[in-house]
Amino acid sequence: MLIAKLESALVDAKNAQRSGSYVCPACGHRVVLHRGTRVQPYFAHRPAAPCTFPGEGETAQHVMGKRQLAAFFADWGTVTLERVLPTIQQRADCWIAHQPRAIALEFQCSPISREDVAARTQGYRDVGAYPFWLLGKRYAQQRLGWRLIDRFAGWLKGWGLCLLFWDVDRQQVRVDHHICQAATGEYQCQQTWVGSLAALVQGPHRRQWWPEPNLARFRWELDRDLRRSSDTLKPLQTAVYLTGHHLAGFPESLVTTQVTPPLFGRGVLLWRIVVAAWLFEHVLFSFATAQRLGEEAFRLVGGATAAVRFQVPLVVTHALETLLTDLVTARFLKRETNGWRVMAQPQWAADYTAWLENDEKKLG
Ligand SMILES: [Zn+2]
Repeated sequence: MLIAKLESALVDAKNAQRSGSYVCPACGHRVVLHRGTRVQPYFAHRPAAPCTFPGEGETAQHVMGKRQLAAFFADWGTVTLERVLPTIQQRADCWIAHQPRAIALEFQCSPISREDVAARTQGYRDVGAYPFWLLGKRYAQQRLGWRLIDRFAGWLKGWGLCLLFWDVDRQQVRVDHHICQAATGEYQCQQTWVGSLAALVQGPHRRQWWPEPNLARFRWELDRDLRRSSDTLKPLQTAVYLTGHHLAGFPESLVTTQVTPPLFGRGVLLWRIVVAAWLFEHVLFSFATAQRLGEEAFRLVGGATAAVRFQVPLVVTHALETLLTDLVTARFLKRETNGWRVMAQPQWAADYTAWLENDEKKLG
């Protein structure tokens, strides 16, 4: 840690004298000043009497990063390092006295559970602060996936849904922004390095673009996972099978290039396939029926309606509206006063292996 208590005053390690009798401002235990030639000065609990206040173990990255972040965010208000908040049993790495709302910076370098992220986020909200998470190297090396998004992603003006990483060597923020999910399920984002607070506030200047989903690969992976009888696909396969179809033989007409919020589990395309299989069992159906089936299919594809730091209201409703509009445009459905009438059945592959052979030729 960077801040310790000497008698009743808080002392920054960089100004501390070796002789002082320092204690931890959070738990009151004795701490020792460390200063070497390679590392910045810091205080540490003695191994025999570790900190009893929740928080993460100190690494060189964490100690150095906190100081860098305090400088980076200085324009937003007076920054206090390691602000102890006894009422919520938390210690913010940096506390920014921002107006109208204080900002609690967490520079997360060590592993942390979803429950702990949720509890700390809520703690800061309870004391009226905006929780701002910046992730360390361990997280920067991870592949963008639901585990990261679920715990740490949040909305930031201009950047959409994003993850922020602090790079101690570059002393810059890496913003993984406009996080979304391709129809085929891959999580995707744009990445921008930001060297100043002004640039962070300004937002990205490049336009976003997304690659077309790779359908041949999607079908191939779907088939592979079905052969391996993947646990996540089994309920989807069963649902579709009971309507007389095979999951991998899905109609081409259900394919979409739309991206969705990253909440769709295995992706909106699988969701559309299951919903369509169910809808086309009807002659006529209402929006309430479609909504019920949509929610059920959302559960089957492993969808989530909210993460720790963000939620997207009506995510299923919006996907459903798009699907119904697409099916009306393709003349499979007709809008009527009380719902939708089925006009034609989308073409499923009777023998889905024919599709695969076809795709293999395309791939080959
Ligand atoms: Zn302590």
